[in-house]
Amino acid sequence: MLAAMPQPPSAASRDEPVIRERGDACPGALRLHAADDGFLARIRIPGGLLDGPAALLLADAAERLGDGHLDLTSRGNAQLRGLGESCGGELAQLLDRAGLLPAPSHERVRNVVASPLSGLDASGLPDVSGWVPLLDRLLCADPGAARLSGRFLFALDDGRGDVAPLAGDVTLTACGDGALVWTAGSPEGVLVAAGDAPRAALLAANHFLDAVARAGSRAWRVTELPPEHALDVRVLGERLAAAGIPGRVAGVSAPRAAAEAGPDIPAPRAGDGPEPGIVAGPGGAAALSVLAPLGRLTAAQWRLLAGLSGRMRLTPWRGVVVPGLTHRTAGPALDALAAAGLVTAPGDPRRSVTACTGRPGCAKSRADVRADARALASRTAGPLPVHWSGCERRCGHPRGTAWVDLVATPDGYEISAPGRPAAPVAHADLAEALTAARSTTPSPSL
Ligand code: SF4
Repeated sequence: MLAAMPQPPSAASRDEPVIRERGDACPGALRLHAADDGFLARIRIPGGLLDGPAALLLADAAERLGDGHLDLTSRGNAQLRGLGESCGGELAQLLDRAGLLPAPSHERVRNVVASPLSGLDASGLPDVSGWVPLLDRLLCADPGAARLSGRFLFALDDGRGDVAPLAGDVTLTACGDGALVWTAGSPEGVLVAAGDAPRAALLAANHFLDAVARAGSRAWRVTELPPEHALDVRVLGERLAAAGIPGRVAGVSAPRAAAEAGPDIPAPRAGDGPEPGIVAGPGGAAALSVLAPLGRLTAAQWRLLAGLSGRMRLTPWRGVVVPGLTHRTAGPALDALAAAGLVTAPGDPRRSVTACTGRPGCAKSRADVRADARALASRTAGPLPVHWSGCERRCGHPRGTAWVDLVATPDGYEISAPGRPAAPVAHADLAEALTAARSTTPSPSL
């Protein structure tokens, strides 16, 4: 029997009612968070879509106002750390100039993830990247949508099943020439025309806000609604129809079958991000997929990425996709990124290593977990990914996979893996213990 793996705090379900006693304190670009290494700003970048000039302004901000780095978040957003107490006004001006603050009242609710390879590879799947600016504009133009919490998430999946499993509150899954709009926890959604999809997503978010008001709840996420106020897909369908969006109810697990149209879609990859390397596109086009080691880039690495084609897509797997290259230019560009220290190949041992902020940024941390993770990343390999945490909260923990868990203790670390009981390990023995734990064969059910 497998040892029970500790669950990250984000793994709450309807079985564990969440009582919210105050508004969410999610950091934003205007609401900075005071951390131990200075102030932190989280800049929402819907769909992770960034153009070169905006990206270069962000690099300037990181160097002039912060610690010279840019962190990538699990929602494809960017974070600046080490900001001074009085730099908020200057940062806001700079972000405004970059076009990254289209609606200050809504800046924290623009949480949109989208399939990062959409329209770039040769899969033939629908390109949903065009939905991102449409949804963002609708969201920012809706005064009521500012009531969404900073944790509410829209996921736009092109049918490959990469972002659909990322716990979006409202998900659009492309299918044929339509889209299934569905809310978290529902086995069914409403199939609408592709052209109506962004508006349908916003109406689904309003459907949630109305349920929150009816329930007298402070739920931040759809799964936090009391069971008696759970969202009803048929009522959502009626709401869409009343707004001029015809649709029909279809199962979430088989949107293709429901659509009965279009080319075959590859089996969902259960929330996997793009492999690092060159992505071959149609007609000689190419893109690059790379990962940021431990989710952090220097301003110089960021500028290098921004200068390749003038476009970047930040991914929810703390990576960057660079579109707009060709088969001829992609190889040298990938070599340049590898030389700059990015993860550019599937076999790079740093690929499956993640860590929380740790010391010195977080007062709760018992160790500089990022330094420990960096030191051991290339000395330990194995099929299981590893996550380093400075305390039991396990911030930034990967979801939905078997993993090796290292949690700092006053004397070293506690290590756990599927099939192995949690055990203390001294700092000097970490490499050996980690190598053994990463080689644990995960159960197929994990
Ligand atoms: S896991 Fe603990 S130490 Fe790490 S960032 Fe979260 S609160 Fe801080």
